[in-house]
Amino acid sequence: MDERVHAPSTRVLHAGLGTFDDGAAPVNVPVVRTSTVRFASAADYERLHRLRHDGENVATYGRHGTATHRALEAAIGELEGAAHVLLAPSGLSAITLTFLALLAPGDHVLIQDSVYGPVRERIEPLLARLGIEATYFAAQDGPPRHALRANTRLVYVESPGSFLYEIIDLPAFGAFAREHGLIVAADNTWSAGWLHQPLAYGAHVSIQATTKYAGGHSDLMQGAVSTNEAALAQRLRDTHEALGLSVGADDAYLALRGIRTIGVRLAQHARHALAVAQYLQGENAVARVFHPALPDDPNHALWQRDFRGANGLVSFAFMPRHDVTHARAFVDALRLFSHGASWGGFESLALVAPAARLRAHSDFASDAPVVRLHVGLEHPSDLIDDLRRAFRLTCT
Ligand SMILES: *Cc1c(COP(=O)(O)O)cnc(C)c1O
Repeated sequence: MDERVHAPSTRVLHAGLGTFDDGAAPVNVPVVRTSTVRFASAADYERLHRLRHDGENVATYGRHGTATHRALEAAIGELEGAAHVLLAPSGLSAITLTFLALLAPGDHVLIQDSVYGPVRERIEPLLARLGIEATYFAAQDGPPRHALRANTRLVYVESPGSFLYEIIDLPAFGAFAREHGLIVAADNTWSAGWLHQPLAYGAHVSIQATTKYAGGHSDLMQGAVSTNEAALAQRLRDTHEALGLSVGADDAYLALRGIRTIGVRLAQHARHALAVAQYLQGENAVARVFHPALPDDPNHALWQRDFRGANGLVSFAFMPRHDVTHARAFVDALRLFSHGASWGGFESLALVAPAARLRAHSDFASDAPVVRLHVGLEHPSDLIDDLRRAFRLTCT
């Protein structure tokens, strides 16, 4: 990359382009599939294995990826502002890789209370089995000084949080970590790296599910872990190798292809989501709307300070007179919003938030049902008509 190019939008588009061979090149790199890597000579075998052993990201076997993977890593490196990127077969596996690489038996980890549910439900029991203890802290209370122990090693954050989009003061967490010799790892899936770069705000490791906006078309499972710290990169690489994590070249290509248009898609998702959020604020059945681009959202000031924009996620709580059966009927009455988990694709989705996951958010002391919308690229007036119709049918 030409170092004179500074705008992230330009750098992301030019990272990992196909290279010239005999004077001509494709735009994106081709899909290069392989298991075996062939070496031109025994000397090349020795040389490349030595480079890999010394920490260079060269492939000596198909599990390490090919030119397609190197191109995707370069593009994610531009998104995250990271020198080292590791690909994983899902967002969840990227998170598990981070915990396993950075923690050892007897360690203690601090985890934000509003994290992606499977961190609590799947990863915490795995950590407990390995003798690693976790303490949850309230997203809105700042760095959890009271919960710090002599064996605390890692602070795990996700900002904005899942379902309600709580935003933390990440630079304050970075300062807290420096003071106590901790590592900060951040789940950056909400921003996709396009809207926010945790590594520039005090985090040491940034994780994203490229399943979501990098993929962008609801047909890909993938994750990535990024860092600028060589020592952490080596620990992540060692664990990545031990777990044998590998991403197919076709999937790497899909994510690279998606990243080329991530900026225009996110801008459109954000415009549509804001229109839907503003409509919901005027709806009788709705008590509260969660979306950080709304000026009256409690996270708005931090969002304006640390983020370049918003995405398509909008959640809302029903008025107390409506219970979860109303919420389910409402979602069933929608025609344009499919009922489903995950998000980041072109299409609109609705999901009744599981009550147990909402209870984990210490700043949400309500029994009201919450619906999470992923606002897609359909025309917003059609989406608002669909929502209005579903409210009339189920909540009057
Ligand atoms: C979806 C999601 C994940 C998990 O990604 P998968 O690719 O579905 O495993 C992790 N973190 C957040 C915040 C997510 O929304």
